[in-house]
Amino acid sequence: MRELLAAPLLLLALVACRSAAAESGSRDASAPPGSARAISDPPRPEWVLVIHGGAGAERKQIEPGTEPQYLDSLRQALRKGSAVLAAGGTSLDAVEAVVTFLEDDPLFNAGRGAVFTHTGTHELDAAIMDGRQRAAGAVAALRTVRHPVHLARLVMEKTPHVLLVWEGAEDFATTMKVERVDNSWFDTPRRRRQLEEEIEKQRRGESGAVTSSPSAAMGTVGAVALDRAGHLAAATSTGGTTNKLPGRVGDTPLIGSGTWADDATCAVSGTGKGEKFIRAAAAARVSMMMAYGGRTLPAAAEEVISQVLRADDGGLIAVGRDGSVAMPFYTEGMFRGVADANGRFEVAVWH
Ligand code: ASP
Repeated sequence: MRELLAAPLLLLALVACRSAAAESGSRDASAPPGSARAISDPPRPEWVLVIHGGAGAERKQIEPGTEPQYLDSLRQALRKGSAVLAAGGTSLDAVEAVVTFLEDDPLFNAGRGAVFTHTGTHELDAAIMDGRQRAAGAVAALRTVRHPVHLARLVMEKTPHVLLVWEGAEDFATTMKVERVDNSWFDTPRRRRQLEEEIEKQRRGESGAVTSSPSAAMGTVGAVALDRAGHLAAATSTGGTTNKLPGRVGDTPLIGSGTWADDATCAVSGTGKGEKFIRAAAAARVSMMMAYGGRTLPAAAEEVISQVLRADDGGLIAVGRDGSVAMPFYTEGMFRGVADANGRFEVAVWH
């Protein structure tokens, strides 16, 4: 008799626990271990946006007096993405809006202001990922597309493919009638000087590899977002690394390396030495550590940046399905910003 009563009572207790979790506003009833919220935690913000303008920022590399310009640009980018999310828009639209805006700002290494290849041209990479079904689109080694992130989205939405490169990507841009510019439109005097410096360092034997200092890549842009419907998205865009060999592709457009989004865990955008991020599958690794290793987002993100990668390899931004945020980096600086529906609105460069 006692056994007969025990089973229904246990079932009732379980149902009560689950509905208490649902009423408290928590979406974490089925969250991976380690991501549960305490009852006293503030509720998950209805939306969250995190952006970056590249790791590898060094005080000596930022031209005197320009730091406020970087911060102002990050604020404007945050406002653009926040407006989309606050109006009930999708995380996908928000991350595209942020990255598109930053691609037009010559301060950053994406779109206009992109770094130069060894032969003095620009080759642009970008990716976007939708956490709902892990749909993704990416482009690499583009030369004439003003907004690579937009073309990446079209790859995701209009083709059965994930990644288009070089001539094929340019042809697709023609088919899609996206805005084109001459390759020299991406030129800036500062990036030209950086190329000359890198080539000189190489000549003196100070830089064995084609790319060297973190600042030679500084300024990649990215955004991750959680929208009101609970969906995650990520986007990243870059000119790559100064003095790279023509045809070199970094982590940015490689899904799972520099860009990742999965509604089950988190959205990630990385920045730093692309070859290192590729070899670590860095962005997807954060997600896998949550899904299979029981880590919280901050713990997983921190472990990838400080233990899987080396301190000066770069940083990342991430947002979890529970609204948690991580922005680990050990370079001198990382341009970054966070906004959410609870009124958080911050931008920063240094630690
Ligand atoms: N990760 C980019 C690349 O290697 C560069 C950067 O993030 O600064 O292409």
